[in-house]
Amino acid sequence: MTSIKMQKQLFGTNGVRGVTGKEITPDLMNTIGQALGSMRKGQIAIGRDTRTSGESLITAIKAGLLAMGCDVIDCGILPTPALQYLVKEHFDGGAMITASHNPPEYNGVKIIEPDGTEMGDEETIKLETLIFSRSFPSVNWEEAGQEANAPHLIQEYCSSISGYFPGNPGKGMTVVADPGSGPACLTTPTILTALGCTVLTINGKLDGTFPGRLPEPSIEGLIPLSELVLSSGAAFGVAHDGDADRAVFVDETGKFVEEDQQFALIAQYICRKNKGIVVTPVSTGQIVEMVVTAEGSSIVYTSVGSIYVARTMRSLLGNGENVVFGGEGNGGLIFPNHQFCRDGGMTAAMMVSILSSTGKKLSELISQLPKRYVLKDKIRTPKGKEIMEAIKSEYSQEKTDQTDGLKIIRESSWILVRVSGTEPIIRIIVDADDPKKGQAFHNEIKQKILIYG
Ligand code: MG
Repeated sequence: MTSIKMQKQLFGTNGVRGVTGKEITPDLMNTIGQALGSMRKGQIAIGRDTRTSGESLITAIKAGLLAMGCDVIDCGILPTPALQYLVKEHFDGGAMITASHNPPEYNGVKIIEPDGTEMGDEETIKLETLIFSRSFPSVNWEEAGQEANAPHLIQEYCSSISGYFPGNPGKGMTVVADPGSGPACLTTPTILTALGCTVLTINGKLDGTFPGRLPEPSIEGLIPLSELVLSSGAAFGVAHDGDADRAVFVDETGKFVEEDQQFALIAQYICRKNKGIVVTPVSTGQIVEMVVTAEGSSIVYTSVGSIYVARTMRSLLGNGENVVFGGEGNGGLIFPNHQFCRDGGMTAAMMVSILSSTGKKLSELISQLPKRYVLKDKIRTPKGKEIMEAIKSEYSQEKTDQTDGLKIIRESSWILVRVSGTEPIIRIIVDADDPKKGQAFHNEIKQKILIYG
């Protein structure tokens, strides 16, 4: 899996990203549109986040698709999972103009397959080959595609989520939504209101300059959200990244909930109702495996990247396994009963359901989870590959997992060492039951990396 991942030149883990006007231009988007239009026929749904460059880029990709004979359904501004849901339900493919959590000057595109998942590695490499060759079959004048605008379809996504939570679980609950001026302004408040919540919003107006906070929902950027949660007596606050496939939370005391804790809490809730398999990358915190196995369920690990999680979930289900949940430890969670992609709106709704059915406060639920010590580090080096080989052979006697990079697993701690696919760096994650143990493990591996580098 990793070797295919490395062969991609233009597309990263989640689509193409870059700075607008430098790497990302209308010319590139038009070429991507033509390439996609020559690979996929029929009705292609497109949408975008709120970035200021979105309008020109979506126009360019649209032109490419139409020129290749595809019909284009322009869904306007909407979250990535909303477009994925609509493609799965109605269309033959999709393209989402977004740079997700990147700063405002970035933009990019995520390609969506007819089943609503992001395009996998093999098809992406075919698409890249077409993009680089720029050789597209010509389409006759009578076969040119037609365009339709469908901004109303976003409501279908909202109803599909609220339909999962009947009985007004949010009745009497005040919540604060922070869509970060992104497309979730049009969805999360609607979904939470439909669940019966009283919803306050912050950064709730669509704005591609992101005046309130950056698209990455960082702890610093969420201080105003925390303050509003506290002053309003809300049950929680929820914030999204720039395309709302991720959701993060602050509890009723205004404290940021670590993403691995959030994942663990929701996994515990789901596994208590329905035992099965939870799928996640090897980089996700041990806390998730601990709660899942304590509930009699099991974990399957994948390479780092949500498409690997989504595709593994699908293939396990195809083999008759009961896959109940999946996701990444960054607030990107996948609910297979709804769709096979990370879904920030669904995650927000799930939190309402958890608080309503347990009758407990969010801080209380978090405090009942196992405690872990997690440390993340990165080391800049051009010799990543050589270092990885040396470390793999040095630790060959220990218990390891080589799904993606090298995970050295000891009794109550592990360390994951991976070479970045996009930058000359080695990433390290340590997860231990105690800080001293974690720091010692980190120092040990860092020394080795410095010696081999
Ligand atoms: Mg995102």
